[in-house]
Amino acid sequence: MSFPWQSAFEIREQVQSGATTAVDVARAYLDRAETMNPELACFLTIDHEGALAAAAQVDRAREAGESLGPLAGVPVAVKDNLCTRGLRTTCASKILEHYIPPYDAHVIEALRRSGAVILGKTNLDEFAMGSSNENSAFGDVANPWALDRAPGGSSGGSACATAAGLAPLALGSDTGGSVRQPAAFCGVTAIKPTYGRVSRYGLVAFASSLDQVGPMARSVREAASLLEVVAGHDPRDATSAERPTGSYLEACDRGAKGLRVGVVRDLIDGLQDADVRTNVEAALSALETKGATLVDVSLPHAKHAVSVYYLIATAEASSNLARFDGIRYGLRVSGDDLTDTYTKTRAQGFGPEVRRRIMLGTYALSAGYYDAFYLKAQRVRTLIRRDYDAAFEHCDVVCTPTTPTSAFALGEKTSDPLQMYLADIFTLPPSLAGLAAISTPCGRSSEGLPIGLQIVAPPFEEDILCSSAQVVEDACGLVEAHPDLAR
Ligand code: GLN
Repeated sequence: MSFPWQSAFEIREQVQSGATTAVDVARAYLDRAETMNPELACFLTIDHEGALAAAAQVDRAREAGESLGPLAGVPVAVKDNLCTRGLRTTCASKILEHYIPPYDAHVIEALRRSGAVILGKTNLDEFAMGSSNENSAFGDVANPWALDRAPGGSSGGSACATAAGLAPLALGSDTGGSVRQPAAFCGVTAIKPTYGRVSRYGLVAFASSLDQVGPMARSVREAASLLEVVAGHDPRDATSAERPTGSYLEACDRGAKGLRVGVVRDLIDGLQDADVRTNVEAALSALETKGATLVDVSLPHAKHAVSVYYLIATAEASSNLARFDGIRYGLRVSGDDLTDTYTKTRAQGFGPEVRRRIMLGTYALSAGYYDAFYLKAQRVRTLIRRDYDAAFEHCDVVCTPTTPTSAFALGEKTSDPLQMYLADIFTLPPSLAGLAAISTPCGRSSEGLPIGLQIVAPPFEEDILCSSAQVVEDACGLVEAHPDLAR
């Protein structure tokens, strides 16, 4: 397999053996990104200098006979809400358009240690709020499978970059589906780790009780290997778990024998989209053929997930985004006095969806409404978690589609926020429950668009996600299918 569809493993192997240099790999990917970005808009910043310097360091280490890290020379695209020291981090917002962080996020440090070459920062919905990447202040990302379709969001740039062969690996962030939904739309694999599995240090906060950084790649094995690099305890994030990390890559070879797969029948039977239903059913049958047992389970409170999420996430966002006041970070629009400066900065700096969420969240938290909205939402969140606890008494993983449809058209849902929020119905419940989840391609729609299967596991059982998703990947045989980009 040749450039640009080589896997992270192949690239590392060739760098290690001296068949190529990390600098040559970086140059090839940087050129490709430059050529294709005008059409795809998946990168907000392409970091030539940083990428070539990191690659040169890998080459020097190899020449000096030092042992190379697990991602030595492998190009990675990073969502632009992860702080990169000295490199602009915008969150796709005007308010941070020129913000240059003085430090690296935990996952960025981990990438650098592993020898990875960070190519640049990827486009997203502003502050990771959205499901189509259309809330970016810096332009829409295209879906590589059909350029007039949404790539999904909010990690649309990272999903697009991996699907289009602009990087074998990418990092995204997932609060309510933001690595899984774009992965499903773009035909790649993404893991939403258990809350606490990956440090949030240096991830610009959206909804702190939900945010997690997640790996994205064209194959389950590559996503698993990236998870191995970024997972682990970090004392700088108080919610970071101290549990040891698993061997996620090794887990990919375990197969599905004896696996009990929970199937949420009413969710699957209720699907309007026949293509999604058929392909998800086929993936479940494939798991069964490989030795898994299908068990019916139910998540009776999952239907409330959209309401619960859009109360809790907006409440947390309204608090987290209070720091962007024109004084400490980023944009400042000076007014007549301090309040006027705050007002002008925030009115001009934030886009419409971010403003909507700040208003919704502030309302949900305000005196008199707190009990009726926020507290109630927290209670229902607990019920959703209990649904999973009950399900996991009968099964090892729970399967649903990742999304109710394949990629919708750009512009299709922008005028109706509620319709957009409903794109998250399957990804929100595991997020609210703090569980581990993966989305992996399981088929194509009649129009040739990717469809994703979501597999959910109990906390810290990412290994089981990798083993079951690998079975689906092998059965579907789509891993070598790439979009026809004429380049
Ligand atoms: N689409 C969801 C939202 O708009 C989830 C976003 C995310 O996971 N960051 O909030």
